[in-house]
Amino acid sequence: MNLYDLLASRFPADRSRPAFLLPDGRAVSYGALEEDVARTAALLVEHEVEPGDRVAMQSVKSIEAVAVYLATLKVGAVFLPLNTAYTEAEVDYFIEDAEPALFVEDAVELVADARTRAPLWESVAREDGDLASIIYTSGTTGRSKGAMLSHGNLAANAAALHQAWGFSEEDVLLHALPIFHVHGLFVALHCAFLSGAPMVWLEKYEDAQVLAALPTSTVMMGVPTFYTRLLANPGFTREAAEHMRLFISGSAPLLESTFAEFEQRTGKRILERYGMSEAVIITSNPLEGERIAGSVGYPLPGVELRIGGGEETGVLEIRGPSVFGGYWRMPEKTAEEFTADGFFKTGDVGRRDADGRVWISGRAKDLIISGGFNVYPKEIELILDEMDGVVESAVIGLPHADFGEAVTAVVIGSGDERAIIAALRGTLAAFKTPKRVFFVDELPRNAMGKVQKNLLRERYAGTYGA
Ligand code: AMP
Repeated sequence: MNLYDLLASRFPADRSRPAFLLPDGRAVSYGALEEDVARTAALLVEHEVEPGDRVAMQSVKSIEAVAVYLATLKVGAVFLPLNTAYTEAEVDYFIEDAEPALFVEDAVELVADARTRAPLWESVAREDGDLASIIYTSGTTGRSKGAMLSHGNLAANAAALHQAWGFSEEDVLLHALPIFHVHGLFVALHCAFLSGAPMVWLEKYEDAQVLAALPTSTVMMGVPTFYTRLLANPGFTREAAEHMRLFISGSAPLLESTFAEFEQRTGKRILERYGMSEAVIITSNPLEGERIAGSVGYPLPGVELRIGGGEETGVLEIRGPSVFGGYWRMPEKTAEEFTADGFFKTGDVGRRDADGRVWISGRAKDLIISGGFNVYPKEIELILDEMDGVVESAVIGLPHADFGEAVTAVVIGSGDERAIIAALRGTLAAFKTPKRVFFVDELPRNAMGKVQKNLLRERYAGTYGA
């Protein structure tokens, strides 16, 4: 079934009910959204977009941008969202690689045009395996790869999340995420649409607007930086969070201190889940049952998860209905990233405890090999984060003539480098103890709040003169 038809089949029977609630008090109904989608679909066809063609969009977040996404699904084309921060040169690469039939720069303008003159358009039938979207991975090393997600992949994940997080028509989803990434685009939108629920629609995360929206919302989805920012705001009180039934976090690791402080402030435990462009959401802490800080919870129903390499800790491998079909026009890269029995190697290193919960210790490519020993940055970061004066830390490996790589810490906060190293030396083996500690005001992060360790490695590359 066409994913759009599946979503639309769950829109409220009373189409006058709101799909979007805007901060200025306006509401946009499900009926209006449906009509926008049908007319925009007709306009896409007029622009000679055919089933299977790519429609690229680099447009600011708007309701019209959502309509373009849904219209693309409706005509059986393939949606290719692009980060609004990408430069022209970066966009050129995506255009050359994906060869879109249409590039949408201004979704508002396109949909406005459709409203004035386009007819209503019927959906094009799709099979589960047909391509729905290509999501280019952030690609901190090498060329960015286009993860190919099918209608079936997205439908399966949406249904699993809708169930796992207990969504219903009673919910109001606070949507402050960007929509060029799976989190804001698929995870958030699909949960709301499958419930026929409204979303409080914010163009971006902004303290005052989020605080104003909390009393009328029930669920918020965020990246960890949303929660640290909320906690830094004295207006974020237990009363402010009272009406919310669920705060969900993902796209980057949630600090245990954030989880703890959040619970202390609000009495609520953030639900952390883990996902990636190649599979949407993979694991989640439970809705009912204990949510544990530092663990990303259990594999979603239907997801098989195992640890590669035969050790207790290793690269997580996954198989299941939401796992993507491969990288766009990269059959060799795709073959490398799947095992012979069809598991995708996520590139995330982790383990499962006796209870079956998954714990992630970082990206495989961030693993440090110092003097021939494997060092998992997370182990050291967790200890550093507990120290006085340390807000957050990032541990990286830097070129070193003797060790190959030298363990190095970059820390938000202040303190005495020697004292920190001496204190770590008390708990950690010498090969794991950072040789240097750098203090900074901020760590470099991408739009989803992920610390960009590649930038730190570049910045401090000459530290040991190697
Ligand atoms: P992306 O494809 O841009 O969504 O990035 C996916 C990556 O984000 C994953 O492979 C993980 O490394 C990381 N990630 C997402 N969620 C979490 C989480 N809850 N904890 C730790 N890492 C996460």
